[in-house]
Amino acid sequence: MSFDTLGLNEVLLKSLTDSGYETPTEVQARTIPAALAGSDLRVCSNTGSGKTAAFVLPALERVLAARADAAARGVKGFQPNKGPRVLILTPTRELALQVSKAAMTYGRHVQGLRVATVVGGVPYGAQLAALRGQLDLLIATPGRLIDHLDSGKAILGQVELLVLDEADRMLDMGFIEDIERIAESLPAERQTVMVSATFAGQVGRLADQILKDDAQRIE
Ligand code: AMP
Repeated sequence: MSFDTLGLNEVLLKSLTDSGYETPTEVQARTIPAALAGSDLRVCSNTGSGKTAAFVLPALERVLAARADAAARGVKGFQPNKGPRVLILTPTRELALQVSKAAMTYGRHVQGLRVATVVGGVPYGAQLAALRGQLDLLIATPGRLIDHLDSGKAILGQVELLVLDEADRMLDMGFIEDIERIAESLPAERQTVMVSATFAGQVGRLADQILKDDAQRIE
């Protein structure tokens, strides 16, 4: 099996070749086509499985689709900020930075890709500037994103895809209310992908709450 068969844009296939990836991992082979088809997903997966690329590549496809749509409508240059198309939530600052790095690597041939990372423990200034600019992907930890939502600085009305990475860890860290509030502030018409090492207990209940009834299970 090769990446060519998963339905990814050439621009992304090129980055995968640059990275020396030849074969998709199991979670990539199963998640990428389902995510590209627009399904909500509950992906049971651990670190080291290649799960990051499994959700970052479909996220980048949305950016490419938006670029193609803007080009078809003759839209050029800077657009007023409407907020990110993709929001990725992670439990920790380290994981957020890792996901951002992966997005820049897999998206290195996506023209003008804009990724912002909003995490706790750093000054607000640079994050505010990033949130005010044009944005494709926003990668955030829940607590700090709530701060920016409360101050009206984070615009989430254009989010088409929400990813919860390591959802079980986010709940272990007590982020349930923050996640619920963030999800409520997003358009109802969106795709949601939940990635977790387990869907037992509270994380399963959250999945039932925020995923569509016909969400696919990838185990
Ligand atoms: P992750 O589970 O997303 O943290 O990824 C684990 C590691 O596997 C990372 O260092 C990735 O760069 C690497 N990786 C992800 N997908 C592939 C692949 N298809 N082929 C080779 N390495 C990969």
